[in-house]
Amino acid sequence: MPKPELIEDLVAANRILSDQGVVDGFGHVSARHPEEPRRFLLARSMAPGLVTADDIMEFDLDGAALDPRGRTLYVERFIHSEIYKAHPEVNAVVDSHSPSVIPFGVTKVPLRPIYHMSSFLGAGVPVFEIREAGGPATDMLIRNPDLGAALAQKIGASAVVLMRGHGDVVVGRTVRQAVFRAVYTEVNAKLQAEALRLGGGEVEFLNDEEAAKASQTNEAVLSRPWELWKRQALGGS
Ligand SMILES: [Zn+2]
Repeated sequence: MPKPELIEDLVAANRILSDQGVVDGFGHVSARHPEEPRRFLLARSMAPGLVTADDIMEFDLDGAALDPRGRTLYVERFIHSEIYKAHPEVNAVVDSHSPSVIPFGVTKVPLRPIYHMSSFLGAGVPVFEIREAGGPATDMLIRNPDLGAALAQKIGASAVVLMRGHGDVVVGRTVRQAVFRAVYTEVNAKLQAEALRLGGGEVEFLNDEEAAKASQTNEAVLSRPWELWKRQALGGS
């Protein structure tokens, strides 16, 4: 297993995403193994808000557990394995059913950056249609490597991909960045829906330059909300 600090960050990520309302009983977050890039770390199948260090397991990029010991695995672990396989720059992945995001996956309204905190959405937010890869009769879950590979292709160089009628997947170069993005994707969706209502459908979004510059600025302060959210989720001083 990798250094305890990464396990600690991954446990905190589970608790934070739960505390912030991005995940509930469902959803999961993983990290690529820093020394073994063809492996990743993910909890056993359980509610993220209850995850402890003992629940973190190691997987290969086929989605197989290295030391399963009879533990139940997340059905959707192929989201993680296939994204790590296709995108070497990605080191953390969040799958959630983030409620405010759902409407943007089922309508023609694109999710766009409404303010500086969600400027990473400026890279575009594609929508994954599971019927294209899995036909008309799936249970909507990414439950095999083929569906995971199709999703990994859809996200491309974006930070977020929406899954129609399911939720969204957020990636990052670090666990902290992925958590930051997952939280602000949910906030952006809520604010964008409100602005669309208030503005009768007319909303001014960040332009590409604003989005790029604001993203750079945010990169330098990722630890500020992380420390706050961690304290709120885990307690302590
Ligand atoms: Zn899911």
